[in-house]
Amino acid sequence: MLSLTLAWFVFIYLTIFLAGILVLWIGYEMLRKYLSSTSSSQHFLCRICGASLTKPETNTILSCPSCGSLNEYNDQGGL
Ligand SMILES: [Zn+2]
Repeated sequence: MLSLTLAWFVFIYLTIFLAGILVLWIGYEMLRKYLSSTSSSQHFLCRICGASLTKPETNTILSCPSCGSLNEYNDQGGL
């Protein structure tokens, strides 16, 4: 029978846990880059309700027509 010491159990547990975090991190970065490259530069989403807003030309803060919240335009992408 396979016998695991406590040290090996902790090592395997941490390795699997950190590998999971790394996979999620890489997946999130790939999704973020994909969405920032495919999204139109003229539209962005409301952070409260998700409605599509047109990029403001003069100011960077825009009021959402659906929920009325103030949204700041950010051209660095993200979810
Ligand atoms: Zn909104």
